[in-house]
Amino acid sequence: MDPLKQRIVLLGPPASGKGTQADRLSKTFGIPHVSTGALLRSECARETVLGREANEWTSKGLLVPDELAVRIVATWMQEHGAVFLFDGFPRTVGQAEHLDRALDHLKAPLELVVLLELPEQEIRRRILERLSCLACGATFSSSIHGYVQGSACPNCGAPLVRRNDDTEAALAQRLEVYNQLTLPVVSYYEKTALRILRRVDAGQGSDAIFAKIAVLVENKEGPANS
Ligand SMILES: [Zn+2]
Repeated sequence: MDPLKQRIVLLGPPASGKGTQADRLSKTFGIPHVSTGALLRSECARETVLGREANEWTSKGLLVPDELAVRIVATWMQEHGAVFLFDGFPRTVGQAEHLDRALDHLKAPLELVVLLELPEQEIRRRILERLSCLACGATFSSSIHGYVQGSACPNCGAPLVRRNDDTEAALAQRLEVYNQLTLPVVSYYEKTALRILRRVDAGQGSDAIFAKIAVLVENKEGPANS
């Protein structure tokens, strides 16, 4: 049996379903799902040395520097081992380069980068139609599920709302950050000698997307894949 891929990066624009897929892959394959946002918040909350350093940036509304973001991830790997599923990290080419160096040092190279692809028009539609349950985190589409603002969440009964950052203006900014910082990460992984980038159409249903990624994680893709 082929071994599973165990060092995985999941990239994709807003509303591509990265978090959902990462959770499901993590549960199915037992690979820890590491969200750098959550790591960062945890370091800050525990007031560790890294957390205090990060706080100097985040308290001003700035992104932490690439080197610091990777140091936080590297510290996590020292404690938990180099088996991970990163969701939305690396966000910049700088972070990708630092991560490669850290993994080189551990002699544990990245094995798979999955890019969830979604046309901009579909990203806009999903975000602007999205209703979220702030209590349980579930999200629904007003056009597909027929809910409106204030409908009761079918999971927990709390009211569904449109999140503050699901607006035209906030979306435009998130897309710009994605296009400027993260798309170059895609090119970076396309050019590495490892040839580990795979593209998956995120416009299909969640189950179909999951099945496609699972094939990649299980190392069962055909030789013709390019
Ligand atoms: Zn709910």
